[in-house]
Amino acid sequence: MSTAFANRSETTPSFGGAASSSGQSGGTTPRRIAVSAVTNRISNPQTINFVDVPAQEYYSSNVFTKTVMKDRLPKSVFKSLMRTIDAGEKLDPGIADVVASAIKDWAMEKGATHYAHIFYPLTGMTAEKHDSFLSPTSDGGTLSEFSGKQLIQGEPDGSSFPSGGIRVTSQARGYTIWDVTSPAYILENPNGTTLCIPTAFVSWTGEALDKKTPVLRSMQALNKQAQRVLKVFGHEDGAFVASTAGPEQEYFLVDRNFYYARPDLLNAGRTLFGAKPPKGQQFDDHYFGAIPERVLAFMCEAERELFKLGIPVKTRHNEVAPGQFEVAPVFESANVAADHQQQMMLTLKKTAEKYGMACLLHEKPFAGVNGSGKHVNWSLGSSSQGNMLDPGATPHDNAQFLVFCAAVIRAVYKHQGLLRAVVASAGNDHRLGANEAPPAIISIFLGDQLTDVFEQIKNGGASSSLPSGTLEVGVDVLPPLPKDAGDRNRTSPFAFTGNRFEFRAVGANQSISGPLVAMNTIIAESVDFCATKLEEALAKDPEGLNAAVQSLLCEIITECSPIIFNGDGYSEEWHKEAEKRGLLNLKTTADALPLLVSQSAAEMFSKYGVLSERELHSRLETYQEQYCMTVGVEANLALNIARTMIFPAAIRYQNELASTCANLKAVGYEFDTDTLDCMTSLVKSLQDGIATLEHAIADDSAGTPDEQCRHCCDVILPSMLTLRQTVDKLEEIIADDIWPLPTYQEMLFIK
Ligand code: ADP
Ligand code: MG
Repeated sequence: MSTAFANRSETTPSFGGAASSSGQSGGTTPRRIAVSAVTNRISNPQTINFVDVPAQEYYSSNVFTKTVMKDRLPKSVFKSLMRTIDAGEKLDPGIADVVASAIKDWAMEKGATHYAHIFYPLTGMTAEKHDSFLSPTSDGGTLSEFSGKQLIQGEPDGSSFPSGGIRVTSQARGYTIWDVTSPAYILENPNGTTLCIPTAFVSWTGEALDKKTPVLRSMQALNKQAQRVLKVFGHEDGAFVASTAGPEQEYFLVDRNFYYARPDLLNAGRTLFGAKPPKGQQFDDHYFGAIPERVLAFMCEAERELFKLGIPVKTRHNEVAPGQFEVAPVFESANVAADHQQQMMLTLKKTAEKYGMACLLHEKPFAGVNGSGKHVNWSLGSSSQGNMLDPGATPHDNAQFLVFCAAVIRAVYKHQGLLRAVVASAGNDHRLGANEAPPAIISIFLGDQLTDVFEQIKNGGASSSLPSGTLEVGVDVLPPLPKDAGDRNRTSPFAFTGNRFEFRAVGANQSISGPLVAMNTIIAESVDFCATKLEEALAKDPEGLNAAVQSLLCEIITECSPIIFNGDGYSEEWHKEAEKRGLLNLKTTADALPLLVSQSAAEMFSKYGVLSERELHSRLETYQEQYCMTVGVEANLALNIARTMIFPAAIRYQNELASTCANLKAVGYEFDTDTLDCMTSLVKSLQDGIATLEHAIADDSAGTPDEQCRHCCDVILPSMLTLRQTVDKLEEIIADDIWPLPTYQEMLFIK
């Protein structure tokens, strides 16, 4: 805990005690204490300065980078490692001892006493198991040790992680395996440092128990298929084609005093109750506004920590909702980007604490204001080809680009259900299923220029590209700008943004691995389809590449154009139109998750060696369980808060009104009982709502996982919503000094 916020320790409120804090003593509800702690906050006198240590000196200072490897490893070992990291060749286990010893020396020079295999279980979290470098010797001393074997393989017990039935307790062994393609790094702590080694996590039978293994497998599959298309176009250097990812992270910051005074935020990451504030986001005055000082200080420190880990954070800004912000890194190879994204989430949370705030990564912490997404920008490229989704100035004559772009279109069309399934979660339902960006219907935004090119292809062949032109502002002192070929569309779940696709349906709290695995694999399948067609055509007529490309593109665009939609994804008309086009509209996790194991998805994942049928089903089982657990926890919390915080406040106020009424009557005055009537009816609704929810929870009898999800979705969540409506109405009439929970106004606007 930082001592910088000196006032915090003396005012840390406890929650749940609201029932005992009397309404008359207006200053002692946890809420009141929180408000006063926040308003009396003394700002952080600590400073970081980038003068003494320039930002670039921090960059990768805690990473076992290629440069460090080159300095510390024998040439042959270094070269062998690079062949694996850059070209995807098989790792030579023979070099492990030498690498281990070099990593250990480097880490110990940086103060490391322990090493940890870092892995990514199906919970979406980051897991770590630490081991000391020190081993006791027979003469009573110790020796620092780190062998190749310890680098390559670990055996965390980890049997409590969900495996969706893959690991029965009798076969509970799970192994972590060094992923050399994601660099090792040092994790700092005020009391020491730890060497962290990114690893895959697999069962005794070799099945993937984690989120990383399928990412690596899917990258391998995509590379293999992409090489075939490149060969058709005469590029045979074999440079590894990697999928690239740049995830934009949205998040909320609230003062920690509020966070601790709200059991729902603390335990569920979102507010289960809370009336809409009179001022919400309607003025859009937060979006891209000046970043509040405390927030900017937090961002600077978080960025410094991320720099140290070699995470290339680039942009920061206020987002649409009050209290909402965004950070985005420069894109990296998908596997590394996924690991870095996990570090990013941890760093944001950890750093926020130091500044007396809580970082909320939940997709919908506050009803009625925007939720948080994590737009995953995706492309593919290689060291010799560069970015293969870069259309250039004249896309119509960039055949190779058009083939890859058409492969993406086909992939999204064929596997829209899978794409929806991989972003399904209890939290994300509040964005995708509600009237918020982006909708649950998966469609592609192509923009004017590409739409036009593909239209021409459909009609026989493309001969021109709409020019991008220049942007004239009409002010002489402002320079003319080259205009982008296409505008943006913020309502599209899958948008072409100039030289990449942006999958915008991913939730703020989700690991990006699932979406990456899905994108890599569905696109590998479509690239395979394209390669096969082109190879067949060339076998018949070696000069016929152009005709083959035109016929392939025409076939794809004719079949798959229903997925393309450049209009407003929020509109009612689109929902109707999408239905006409036969596109899926899976509003909830309960609807969407089963599509993870659809026949087409299962066949594809097994064909490309990404996930076996058993591995795929284990994921469905795990995610269904997580969904039910999340809803279950929220429901119990809602019940608890309604009973122990809201109900007591309600009857206290009701009693106040009733005694006022009785007292006035006793001395001969009239009392308008409107408010008392309203309170009485709301108290009744509250009691009914509590009873109904309690019933819904109790009714959650065993059934199939599908049935349990449906029960959560169709019975529990609606009961929670009904209860919430009553509570939110109560919040609007109960005396302010009695209301126990920090309000939206307070949480979102007191900085
Ligand atoms: P915007 O808000 O306009 O979408 P941002 O700068 O916030 O733009 O985010 C764009 C993201 O797209 C960045 O993370 C960037 O690195 C990423 N990106 C750019 N080019 C590629 C690419 N070829 N592959 C993957 N991601 C990319
Ligand atoms: Mg974006």
